[in-house]
Amino acid sequence: MVNLPLLSADGDVKWILHSLEAAPDDGRDRSAMALALDAAEARLRSILQTVPDAMIIIDDCGRIESLSTTAERLFGYPTAELAGRNVSQLMPSPDREQHDVYLRRYLATGERRIIGIGRIVVGQRKDGTTFPMHLTVGELRSAERHYFTGFIRDLTDQQLTETRLKELQSEVTHMSRYTALGEMASTLAHEINQPLTAISNYLRGSQRLLDRIEGESTPMLRDALGKAADQALRAGHIIRRLREFVARGESERRIENLTRLIEDASTLALVGAREAGISVSFQFDPNADLVLADRIQIQQVLVNLIRNAMEVMIETPNDRRLEIATAAGASDLVEVSVADTGSGLAPEVASQLFQPFVTTKRKGMGLGLSICRTIVEAHGGKIWVEDRPGGGTVFRFTLRGAQIEEAEHGR
Ligand code: ADP
Repeated sequence: MVNLPLLSADGDVKWILHSLEAAPDDGRDRSAMALALDAAEARLRSILQTVPDAMIIIDDCGRIESLSTTAERLFGYPTAELAGRNVSQLMPSPDREQHDVYLRRYLATGERRIIGIGRIVVGQRKDGTTFPMHLTVGELRSAERHYFTGFIRDLTDQQLTETRLKELQSEVTHMSRYTALGEMASTLAHEINQPLTAISNYLRGSQRLLDRIEGESTPMLRDALGKAADQALRAGHIIRRLREFVARGESERRIENLTRLIEDASTLALVGAREAGISVSFQFDPNADLVLADRIQIQQVLVNLIRNAMEVMIETPNDRRLEIATAAGASDLVEVSVADTGSGLAPEVASQLFQPFVTTKRKGMGLGLSICRTIVEAHGGKIWVEDRPGGGTVFRFTLRGAQIEEAEHGR
């Protein structure tokens, strides 16, 4: 049996199943079968030459078995140069180093992370440039062979990229606006509460003064002052309630795969990094892979830290390196770090970096890091900053790690 994958005009994947009759074991039938197989392979080749989309078929070691002409063109390789090579060559770090591990993990566990799901990932052309792409992977399994077929959509086209990224981003920015609003409400609440308390005290004082004055309208005045003081108190309560509501937030914590969470946030945050000459490296500790977290909120923390790091590096002529790492810490905590080789912290803001409205940027709101702190602390973690040895800054935060047993429980 030979399975031929085919893309229909609307981009759906169709499988053409070519059944070869089980051949009795004699020479004539075997050669008939060989002929039929040859014909099937020729058909596959012709499909691969003509399909408008990029398709790559790999074996279970990641070796490129065959690929469509469109795929060769998309990745900037001349005909026949890619066949036989490892597919990891078509991706930037960290996928490049990790792809064999992903494949082995899938073959060992059967856990699907991309197969049949489809995700936005980054592809790397022969000349080293990268581009966003949508990848769907199908699986071909027969008695003795195991192949994977990747269907690739180039998202370089501005509009497509934007809509796909917007989809990703909208979740994060929705949360971000919500939290930014919360931070503002919280600061406002603090600022407004003090004058409200003062108003209330003055009113009570005036009421007491009125007690000493006789007159026709004093009872009415006293009553009016009392009501005004009640209203001032009420305004204070409303603001306190708003603060409590914001502090509670609407977070949904689940057991999440930290590596995947970081990869997804990075895809979004690192748009434009390569063009700015920023190299990115990831170091994932396999013992720190599961955390208890609200995915969107932690992605928001990462996007904030990564964008801040990129912004500061773009301003400096140094070597521009971003290092993102995870590490299993003490007592079930997992530590995530985002390090840059930028100019380091400005002394005037260093001590109050995580307070709202602290910024050195002309157009900055100074809310990013205070939002990060609110989110991390709501997760039971801590966030802090250190100077990076050799120049630059390292932001670190902790999250509660989760155990495999919990993960299985949570399913
Ligand atoms: P904003 O980005 O709007 O200024 P943030 O709260 O995200 O708000 O950052 C506050 C300030 O912290 C920035 O204005 C900048 O001075 C400093 N900062 C943040 N990240 C870095 C970094 N990676 N390196 C140096 N300074 C940083």
